[in-house]
Amino acid sequence: MAFEKLIGQEDVKRRLSAAVESEMLSHAYIFSGPDGIGKMTFALEFAGLAMCGAPVNGRKCGRCRACQLGESGNNVDLRIISPEEKKTQIGVEAVRTQICDEVFKAPVFSRKKVFIVDRADKMNESAQNALLKTFEEPPAYTLIILLCDSVLPLLETVKSRAVGIEFRRNTDSEIIQKYRELRDESARSGSVLPEIDTSLLCAYADGLMGRVGELCADGGELIRARIELVEKLSDLYAGKNGAKAAISSIIDVRNKNYDFAFFSMMSFTRDAMLIARFGSKTEIMNPDLKEQLSAMARDTGYYRLKNALTEIDTCYRNLARNAMPELATDNMLIRIAG
Ligand SMILES: [Zn+2]
Repeated sequence: MAFEKLIGQEDVKRRLSAAVESEMLSHAYIFSGPDGIGKMTFALEFAGLAMCGAPVNGRKCGRCRACQLGESGNNVDLRIISPEEKKTQIGVEAVRTQICDEVFKAPVFSRKKVFIVDRADKMNESAQNALLKTFEEPPAYTLIILLCDSVLPLLETVKSRAVGIEFRRNTDSEIIQKYRELRDESARSGSVLPEIDTSLLCAYADGLMGRVGELCADGGELIRARIELVEKLSDLYAGKNGAKAAISSIIDVRNKNYDFAFFSMMSFTRDAMLIARFGSKTEIMNPDLKEQLSAMARDTGYYRLKNALTEIDTCYRNLARNAMPELATDNMLIRIAG
């Protein structure tokens, strides 16, 4: 079967494989599901299959020009459209020039010409209407895949002309399988990813494969930073100088890679609260850090930890729509400092 290298989403695999094997591809698909669930990974695999000149039993042949170019990421017959940097929308001009005009140029090396629209829910109404014209009479070689968190912002007329494919959150065992796969891959290339407790991994991933990838990126930098973070957070609660600046640089809101740091600060604080309330035998999310967290519980006390947890949680939830995330984070750190 196709998609065999990808973990989970069995229903999606079955439907897409059946379409490829029966050569009954629709000209448009909508992949929906939360960020990080693996829509782009599946879309690229699906595109590769559709473009292959000689698929064998629903698998890419790996030898044709389309497959070889696809392997190196250089197949001009695959186009990816996404909101421009710093723009929150995909406008009508982008859809016209990158899809509507391009669609009439036949594929050069491949069986299909594929357009993947990332964050398709960011297309404004006129962009969607422009796309609709292409949806109505596309050349036979066209395959358009729209990726979106939610189908709600899409016009009914767009939705009704495409096949909807819904992605579901992965199970914990699929998440663990993915982590092991990335760890083995990393070991083969000579680097060792730091260990992460499986219950912590699954709690953070929350069914999203992308989050596992995020944790394993750059040799597991985020997992390593977690140890430094627990020390600095203890220092902050104890009112030590320099702790705030150190935490700010670990959180790194500027690079938008702050989810795990916030998740960690909340889980440390919650664990310390539990220890403060129920003693050190209570079950916590970060058992490997029990010693530090017990000290944090003793030195900070239940009520201060509880207030800190509320502050961190509120700050995190508002961060994505905050115009000055660094300032908001700094203010939160000042409020929770000892
Ligand atoms: Zn091929």
